[in-house]
Amino acid sequence: MRTWNWMFAAVLLAASSAVAQQPSNSQTTAQPDASSATQASSTAASQTTSQSQAQQPTTPPPAVSALPQPTTMDQVVDRFLEREHNLIKALSTRTPVVETYLQNLSADPQLGPVPSGDHYFLGRMDMGESVDRKDYLKEQDKGMQIRLMGGFQKLFKVQYQPLGFSWMVYADRSDFDRQHYEFHYIRREFLGDVRCLVFDVTPKKNSGKGRFLGRIWVEDQDWNIVRLNGTYAPAPRNSYFFHMDSWRLNLIPGYWVPAYIYSEEGDFSAGVKNKMAFKAQTRIWGYDLKKGGKDDELTQIRVDSVKDDSPTAQDASPLQAEREWQQQAEDNVVERLTRAGLVAPEGDVDRILQTVVNNLEVTNNIDLPRPVRTRVLLTAPLETFSVGNTIVISRGLIDVLPDEASLAAVLSHELAHIVLGHNLGSKFAFNDRMLFSDESTYSNLGFKHVPEEETAADKKAVELLKNSPYAQKLDSVGLFLKALQARAPQLNALLTTHLGNTLTENGTVSRLSSLLTTGPALDANKLDQIAALPLGGRVKINPWDDKAEMVKTAPVAITSARDKMPFEVTPFYPRLARFGAANAPATAPTTAANSNTGN
Ligand SMILES: [Zn+2]
Repeated sequence: MRTWNWMFAAVLLAASSAVAQQPSNSQTTAQPDASSATQASSTAASQTTSQSQAQQPTTPPPAVSALPQPTTMDQVVDRFLEREHNLIKALSTRTPVVETYLQNLSADPQLGPVPSGDHYFLGRMDMGESVDRKDYLKEQDKGMQIRLMGGFQKLFKVQYQPLGFSWMVYADRSDFDRQHYEFHYIRREFLGDVRCLVFDVTPKKNSGKGRFLGRIWVEDQDWNIVRLNGTYAPAPRNSYFFHMDSWRLNLIPGYWVPAYIYSEEGDFSAGVKNKMAFKAQTRIWGYDLKKGGKDDELTQIRVDSVKDDSPTAQDASPLQAEREWQQQAEDNVVERLTRAGLVAPEGDVDRILQTVVNNLEVTNNIDLPRPVRTRVLLTAPLETFSVGNTIVISRGLIDVLPDEASLAAVLSHELAHIVLGHNLGSKFAFNDRMLFSDESTYSNLGFKHVPEEETAADKKAVELLKNSPYAQKLDSVGLFLKALQARAPQLNALLTTHLGNTLTENGTVSRLSSLLTTGPALDANKLDQIAALPLGGRVKINPWDDKAEMVKTAPVAITSARDKMPFEVTPFYPRLARFGAANAPATAPTTAANSNTGN
């Protein structure tokens, strides 16, 4: 109970600084004159020196530039071009996870643009010279364009061929130089805690198709690009490129790695003929995952170093043996999913989840032989599952839940499976079943219960909830389920689960459906009624090491029904900070819709 409130308190603190960020941006859009830039550079020079001395030997080793600290804008351009090429080189051995979630939009007279359909893509991106991509979802093998874009693939053909949205991690992979581009210094500006120089980038005439056109932000210590905003031009005939806003984070010394990309197209003003519209979030994580999968699987057989030191070493009884076996399966699965970049390492978010589970257990006198653990699935689709005594809940689902009671509700379903002994995972105690490539995780692991067990778990879950501190707050659970019901037909991809049971069947809420009638009616016009949140408002992932953390945002007043945006995609606005900066919330992806977290 307390933790969730604590989150809101934390949320409050950070939002005031986020609000403060806005005006400070405009104030610091200062003097685009060369003399002040020079001054800034010399300060930056000394900072850089001290920073490079402090750098630790992490991979990839930060390349020390051979160029002197810039004193003119021309030299700044040279520096960021060099840094960009170094970044491409430094990341070329990496194969991060890339997730794109896209919502097609149609106009609703009351709510504005609302999702009319959605698409989901998840894969590993090989950032080496030969750009390659492997998909986690097997249906995509045939053609990601079709999966992602439905009928739109023709329009966006070119952009989708190499990498889909992940194309947009670099301005120009091969030809980002003065021969192909003009760079115009605009002004200085803070992004979060980081002072940046802003440049407009335009391709030179006849420099080829698909060149970057837009604006870049360059931090003024090491001269790395931290944000790209624009599109690619000129487009080939009969197709065009999306617009994108691409953000990087300083997660390792000296480098800013691509982390978030927001795309949006569409114009809902009167008289516009092209009604095509969508918005999409791309997240990149798992930079530090081991390359390969199956090969190094064989070299990574785990040796458990924990010795059995119980005072009277006894033989295992049949029941004990069964439990050991389940524990082994559970450990195998959690470890394998973590290694595939699908589950976050144990961390802060788990402590919050565990507190909620504990609240349910204590008030229901549940005493299990092994403790219940929780983990965060790093992906967006709304799902939960359990393996052994570990409950796994997706980042996307935590994001959209309006309060602690609704979190307790989704966790109670999995706790009910555990209490009822619905254990599915024991076959994974055989280690050969863990030997598969990361990309084939979804076809090798699965934790879907039969309908009878689902019904029984729902029934038990409601019992647990009614006997818990959340008993008086089930109205908000009912509201959440109603909001889910209202949007379910349009959010098929978000509701398609990959490891656990779905929350809906054929567009109708099936999970905890007996609570669907609880609470007041869903009313978009009631501004104080927050039934479900947008995606991205609760959990942030560190793209380098996959750690999950709660987002610290402040409430922003909701002024119209259009501010609510339940289950929707919004732009990214991470608060940038330098690596190692004091309490650096380097990865805080506050989204434009954090407004909703403030109830
Ligand atoms: Zn279930």
